[in-house]
Amino acid sequence: MIHYKSAQEVEAIKASAQILGKAHAEVAKSIKPGAKTKDLDKIADEYIHDHGGWPSFKNYHGFPSALCISVNDVVVHGIPNEYVLKEGDIVSVDCGVKYKGYHSDSAYTYPLEGTSEEVLKLLQRTYESLYLGIAQAKSGNRIGDVSYAIQHFVEQFGYGVVRELVGHGVGKELHEDPEVPNYGKRGKGPLIKEGMVFAIEPMINMGTKNVVQEKDGWTIRTNDRKPSAHFEHMVAVFKDRTEIVTTHEYIEESYQFKWRNKSR
Ligand code: MG
Ligand code: MG
Repeated sequence: MIHYKSAQEVEAIKASAQILGKAHAEVAKSIKPGAKTKDLDKIADEYIHDHGGWPSFKNYHGFPSALCISVNDVVVHGIPNEYVLKEGDIVSVDCGVKYKGYHSDSAYTYPLEGTSEEVLKLLQRTYESLYLGIAQAKSGNRIGDVSYAIQHFVEQFGYGVVRELVGHGVGKELHEDPEVPNYGKRGKGPLIKEGMVFAIEPMINMGTKNVVQEKDGWTIRTNDRKPSAHFEHMVAVFKDRTEIVTTHEYIEESYQFKWRNKSR
């Protein structure tokens, strides 16, 4: 069942997303070679608590951390640990905040200095696909229009679109209906209507679309061990417009490696 949000609820979600965006930025300051992923998690956890929120992922179905940190061939749901980042790594940081009863959820993949041109392109194009998806997330369209826009764009480069994990509605629950796949057909799926708030989150692999889950029950890795990129925003749909309610702005101010050519 889709929960349609009132204007007040959208405002509450935006307040949650502001804390989230700034928590991401605190983490971004420390993403560099030599950083331990467990320490990055601590930064986010403390920031969120200090600002009156709760890290949505912590204890979610038993997940142990505030952040999912997914390095290189890990697609999503990596558990922060003793791993030390090194030059050439790409690092997906996914975070959620619950604030005054409402969740927010966003993700960003950081290339460290030394990332190859080929992998930087994977990140650029995954980022671009997120915005192509967002452009289709408007009242009167269907979820399949969002899905198709993402899939159609990235597959031209030979990339694999992960099937097992999808975007989702967000509100009082972290994961609500509808599901928002990154693959699909135009004109299919749930109708997009005023009051819908959902996360769009392309997970795009350099090689095969196939993934495997590690024995820890969380970590999702590409089957061919090639890198994977992940960017996530939440949108709120109004009758005449759609707003991106999460922000990567603070991240991009804080992260020292200016990797993205800013066409958006
Ligand atoms: Mg999500
Ligand atoms: Mg997320």
